[in-house]
Amino acid sequence: MRGKSYPAPYKDFLNCLYRQAIQRWTEQDADEIFHIILSLSQKQIADAVLAQEISSLFEIKVETQVGCLNCKFIQRMPNSLFSLPLAICERENSLENCINSFFQLQKLVDSEKVYCDKCEKRQPSTYELKLVSLPPILCVHLKRFRNDNGYPRKLYNKVAFPETFSTGIFSAGKSEADCLRSDEHYSLYAVVVHKGTTVSGHYTAFIRPNQEKMWYYADDSCVRPSTWADVQGTYGGYRQHYGETAYLLLYRKKS
Ligand SMILES: [Zn+2]
Repeated sequence: MRGKSYPAPYKDFLNCLYRQAIQRWTEQDADEIFHIILSLSQKQIADAVLAQEISSLFEIKVETQVGCLNCKFIQRMPNSLFSLPLAICERENSLENCINSFFQLQKLVDSEKVYCDKCEKRQPSTYELKLVSLPPILCVHLKRFRNDNGYPRKLYNKVAFPETFSTGIFSAGKSEADCLRSDEHYSLYAVVVHKGTTVSGHYTAFIRPNQEKMWYYADDSCVRPSTWADVQGTYGGYRQHYGETAYLLLYRKKS
């Protein structure tokens, strides 16, 4: 079953990317490519309704809230994300604690003070993202690449993620008003995996077709059956230096 190659219709798709946006034979970032593909689809699809439908599949709606600590005025700005960019820390992580950190309130003081329209000057402030709604397909970006004073570095730390989750994980520690109105369930169906370092690497993917229990592993044109335990092997950790680490997680909302 292993190693059967099916050369393929994706060549036109790749040629389009090479013509429009991407340099050949250079290291690319899978999350950037994902955003480039979405943006090209918005520009090139003549049917505006279809283009909007595609974009809505991935659109995470949030509200940015910046609160003045002096007069308590809160500026609210609606915003959209097409993948959830989660910072990971240099210890063991779980999807849930990365999500909690992402939505945690931050204080902006000293050089980070923000201009307040009411006080008409820069003031110490709070910054917070509030989740408004989640899309049918949630793309999670585990930010494993970091810039340390001009030196790019990859974090190989463990990030455990579940095969399914309920949106309750977005409500941990939040007041009732800040929780999503309904509890939805999501199921993992693809994981984009990065193998290598910041300067040289290769992307592969685990995929689970809709309604199937079986996972498949795709490495270029080679596709073979796989297991959830294999997917879990991409969590990362100290023993996996230069090994395969999950980079993008795609969860589908259960209907
Ligand atoms: Zn103010």
